[in-house]
Amino acid sequence: MTKNYTTKDTIQPQIILGIAAHPDDLDFSAAGTMAYYASQGAEIHYLILSDGGQGSTDTEIKRQDLSRTRQREQKNALNILGGKEVYFLNYPDGHLVNNDDLKKDIIKIIRTVKPDTVITMDPSVLYSSQRGSINHPDHRVAGQAALDCIYPFARDHLAYPELFAAGFMPHKTKTILLTNFNQQNFIVDITTTIDLKIKALEQHRSQIDNIDQVSVWLKANAATIGQNIGVDFAEGFIKIELRN
Ligand SMILES: [Zn+2]
Repeated sequence: MTKNYTTKDTIQPQIILGIAAHPDDLDFSAAGTMAYYASQGAEIHYLILSDGGQGSTDTEIKRQDLSRTRQREQKNALNILGGKEVYFLNYPDGHLVNNDDLKKDIIKIIRTVKPDTVITMDPSVLYSSQRGSINHPDHRVAGQAALDCIYPFARDHLAYPELFAAGFMPHKTKTILLTNFNQQNFIVDITTTIDLKIKALEQHRSQIDNIDQVSVWLKANAATIGQNIGVDFAEGFIKIELRN
């Protein structure tokens, strides 16, 4: 882990847009932070790129039914966190591609929501030998597409000019928080919101069999990150303050 942590007080987001591949991604990595900033008056929006129709071990379930269930779970979860709106793009789960269609759809939402802060997935995480895990390809595509859209495409009116012509005005995002479980330079104290995070995750019943087991793991992890700034529970990010 990198040092020189800053604390939650160094940013005061007014409008946060979370961008992720699947329902539940943002809640696992950032729900405590979302709830904290919501409690401070920030507007929280989620943009979920895929339909979430592949995340099940139930061999009987139909893709469309799973997708509908997961969207409902995600809306309930954001509600609990004090968030405002969830946008779904419904690209097929497991097949996200960072192409022009995806980028244009993301730009439209960025230019509509006009976030000062975007929370998304760090696309540079390919695997973790420490955790024994490979990062889901959709997560990498989601993070890369989000970054591409923040800079330069959402900012430049001549990028995809048909969007500008249709009334989507250019927008500059100031702050990016990347979720990266291995590395952080920015820590948010979630001591007051960790219970909301667990309640939000509890909504994702199609994904989580045993919330008690998950909450033990989550709390241990949040406690380890919290030690860096001397608080009980925290979430960590890589923060980028955009100058361009
Ligand atoms: Zn995911």
